[in-house]
Amino acid sequence: MPFPSDIDPDLDVFALIDREVERQTSGLQLIASENFTSPAVMRAVGSVLTNKYSEGYPRKRYYGGNQIVDDIEQLAIDRARTLFGADHANVQPHAGANANMAVYLGLLEAGDTVLGLSLDHGGHLTHGSPVNFSGRIYNFVSYKVAPGDERIDMDQVRALAIEHRPKLIVAGTTSYPRRLDPVAFRAVADEVGALLMFDAAHIAGLIAGGQHPDPVPHADVVTFTTHKTLRGPRGGCVLTKAAHAAAIDKAMFPGLQGGPLEHVIAGKAVAFREAMHPSFKDYAAQIVKNASTLAGALANQGFRLVSGGTDIHLMVVDLQPFDADLTGKEAQAVLDLAGITLNKNAIPNDPRSPFVTSGVRIGTPSVTTQGMKESEMLQIADFIARALRQRTDESALARIKGEVAELCAAFPAYPNGV
Ligand SMILES: *Cc1c(COP(=O)(O)O)cnc(C)c1O
Repeated sequence: MPFPSDIDPDLDVFALIDREVERQTSGLQLIASENFTSPAVMRAVGSVLTNKYSEGYPRKRYYGGNQIVDDIEQLAIDRARTLFGADHANVQPHAGANANMAVYLGLLEAGDTVLGLSLDHGGHLTHGSPVNFSGRIYNFVSYKVAPGDERIDMDQVRALAIEHRPKLIVAGTTSYPRRLDPVAFRAVADEVGALLMFDAAHIAGLIAGGQHPDPVPHADVVTFTTHKTLRGPRGGCVLTKAAHAAAIDKAMFPGLQGGPLEHVIAGKAVAFREAMHPSFKDYAAQIVKNASTLAGALANQGFRLVSGGTDIHLMVVDLQPFDADLTGKEAQAVLDLAGITLNKNAIPNDPRSPFVTSGVRIGTPSVTTQGMKESEMLQIADFIARALRQRTDESALARIKGEVAELCAAFPAYPNGV
C-alpha cells in the first residue's frame, strides 16, 4: 500500500511546525534546559532508523536486520565513552528520567534509602519527589541548600548520610546555579559505604567542554540528558564504572524499556562527535561567561540572584526585591508577550506555591548557540527589566517584542534554514 497521497503532506501538522520554527527563532529562548540542536542531529533523528526494531544491545539483538543499527549504536557508545572517559556507556534511555530509573532499578531494591536534593531547593522530580516513581518506590531523604548562602551544605549531606545510611547518594541539580563538588560527594559516600550517582542532566555539555568539575572518575554512575547543554537530540545516557555495567544494561533492557530509539541514538552519536570538536570548549566557556554577565546585569536592575550569582549556565532570579507583587507566574506570562521565553521557578523557601513562585530560572545555552556574547546579555537584561516594569502596558511589551525579534534576527540559530 502506498502512503495516502491525499493527506500527505499533512499541512495541519507542518504549518504548526513552521509556526514553531518562527517562535523559536524570533524570540529569546532562555529556558535553561533547552538548546538548539544541529541540523546534522536533526537529520539523524528524522531518518529511516525510526523504522527499525532493535531490542537488545549491539550483536545481541532479538530481531534480524540490525547489522547497520549495531554499527550506529556502537559508534554512539564508543563516542560517549571517549568524550567522557567512561568505562561503559548505555545510550538507550529515551530521556533523562529513564536513565535515572534504570540506575535505581539496577542498583537498588524497593524501599532502599537514597539521599537526594529536595525538589524545591533545586533537585529533580526523579530525586525522590513524592509525586514521582522515585519517591513512591524508594525511601528518599532530602538534603537542602543552606539558609544563608543558599548553597548545598556538604556538612548537612554528611550528617544526613551518617544518620540514614543510604545505599545510594544522588548528586545533581535542575535549578541550582552553582557547581557541585564530585570529590566531596565521593568522600561522604565512602564514609557511609554508599554508591554515588551523579545526575549531570543539565551540565553534561559543561563537563564535556571543561567548564565543570568532572564527576566521571568519582561517581559509580553518571546519568545525563543529551538535549540540554550537550546540545544533542532529546534523550538520556548512563555512564558506569565497569563493575556496574551489566546491572545497568539489564535494568534498561529488558528491565525498563522496550525497543531503543535508534534514530535518536544516531543523533546522540552525531552530538557526541560535535562535542569533541575543539570549538565546543569555546562554546561551553561562552555559555558560562554569558550567564555570569547576564546575572550581574540583572542584579544591577534590582533583582536578587539566588546564592548571589552563578558559576554555570543558569541562574535563579528572586523577583521580590525588584517588585514585591510580581510572581514568577506573572513574570513568565509577561515575558512571553515580549518574545522572551523562560520558566517560573521556586526560590529556596519560597513563600508562594510551586505553581506561582517568587522566581524565574534563566539559562544561556540557546542564546550562546546563536552566537550571542556579553554585550547581548546586557541587552537581554535590559529587555527583561523593562518588560517587567511596564508589564501592564501592552504597547510597551509589543515594542520590546520587536526589539527582541531584531536581536534574534541578527543571531540566527539556523542561518541556512531548517
Ligand atoms: C532534565 C533533568 C532530568 C530529566 O530529563 P528528561 O529528559 O526531562 O526526562 C533528570 N535529572 C535532572 C537533574 C534534570 O535536570
